[in-house]
Amino acid sequence: MDSMFSTDEIQGANALVLGASRSGMAAARLLKDAGANVYVSEIRPLADLESAATEFENLGIVFETGGHRLKEFPIPDFAVVSPGIPTNAPIVDQLKRQGRPVVSEIEVASWFYIGTVIAITGSNGKTTVTRWIEHTLRQAKLNAIACGNIGYPFCDMVRDHQKVTHAVVEVSSFQLETVTSFHPHVSVLTNISEDHLDRHVDMEGYAKAKARVWMNQQKDDFAVIPKGDELIASISLSIRPQTIHVSLDHVPKMGAGVEDGEIRLQLNGQTESIMRVDELPIPGRHNLANALCAAAACRILKLSPEEIREGLQSFPGVPHRLEVVTNNGRVWINDSKATNVDSLRVALEAVRGPVVLIAGGRDKGASYESLRELVKEKVEELLLIGEGADRFQQELGDLVTTKSVGDLSVAVREADELAEPGATVLLSPGCASFDQFKNFEERGDVFRDLVRDLNVSDEVSESGEKSE
Ligand code: ADP
Repeated sequence: MDSMFSTDEIQGANALVLGASRSGMAAARLLKDAGANVYVSEIRPLADLESAATEFENLGIVFETGGHRLKEFPIPDFAVVSPGIPTNAPIVDQLKRQGRPVVSEIEVASWFYIGTVIAITGSNGKTTVTRWIEHTLRQAKLNAIACGNIGYPFCDMVRDHQKVTHAVVEVSSFQLETVTSFHPHVSVLTNISEDHLDRHVDMEGYAKAKARVWMNQQKDDFAVIPKGDELIASISLSIRPQTIHVSLDHVPKMGAGVEDGEIRLQLNGQTESIMRVDELPIPGRHNLANALCAAAACRILKLSPEEIREGLQSFPGVPHRLEVVTNNGRVWINDSKATNVDSLRVALEAVRGPVVLIAGGRDKGASYESLRELVKEKVEELLLIGEGADRFQQELGDLVTTKSVGDLSVAVREADELAEPGATVLLSPGCASFDQFKNFEERGDVFRDLVRDLNVSDEVSESGEKSE
């Protein structure tokens, strides 16, 4: 499908942007640059939007705050909806009833972008796969940039970097709900788990939103998908792009997989060895799955097996996801992104025991029962922080020495006392961060600083001893 709007049609068009979120702002800027008349409507009050308001004024963008009234605005030719606004919100319904196209910021960016799009979606692993593909392409000297749901809107990327040949775009299911002509050459669906069901109501609706990533792909495009997942198999049965499978226990006929401890690809009728699994720079079977997705995507984009090996191997990982902060005889790992039980489980599976585990935070109500075997096997000490401490204590406290320590600084101090040489100290909270932090990034940053301070004070006392 051609773009829903050509750049000519955008000149002078009335574009309504719903929500002055980061992506809404990016869409407004890009559309304004392209000559559209841009109107922004935001539900939050003006007092919360000072820097956005200044920018709109400077750019000559008309805006209203404190609700979507739209009374002062002309009838829009199309509306851009922020991912935070549900597609069944009254304002979206109203626009659709009036026959106005309602699209996402990703869709808008795609009208302007002429390079190759690689789109990554799924419940887990999106950011890791996005960054891993970006890194591998750049190592191979391609002009690739990661953008989208990773915190750098696709629209901003289009404005900032005209010469990018490969846009590696992380796309959430919410953004996919409102794409129309967005057309990736390579799509990657990492997995589908039962997360995110609150807004999508049921699994089928959630899966359908994900399936929109294939909607505009053609026969000469590629869809990388995991093999062996019934739901994914059923929704991808009759898709148009060529299907490239990913498997952790064999090498699919058209795809990426593992055999004899090696990552191997089979995309051109022959088997190509990429590297040994134990040479991967980040741990865990989940990251092996992520590596396979990245390898498949990069091979489709014509990187050589050697270039792929180099890219996979030199990947530094993504901050806050099993990030090794330091190894001072004990390995200190920041996995602050683990905001649910599933992520805590994959972290425990991935790291070497014995583990001093720091967990807790804002409890999301899910049971910790599924962690019992792993905790018994690997965890030596459990240090609990924040609101969720009590339930951890109730459900896992009989298995290991458990202590509720309140906050992260005490947890790090205690861990420093308790962890023997060779142990792993793992911050993998299994809970949201909002009880004590702004977000998981802040929680991880604080942890990293506390751990580095420990190291500095170790060094200081050591050098102090020497000078005495
Ligand atoms: P997303 O962007 O989809 O949230 P990330 O790459 O940021 O994914 O990883 C977030 C967390 O999801 C990781 O800390 C890890 O616990 C888990 N995870 C990552 N990749 C996978 C995977 N392939 N399968 C299952 N869980 C994963």
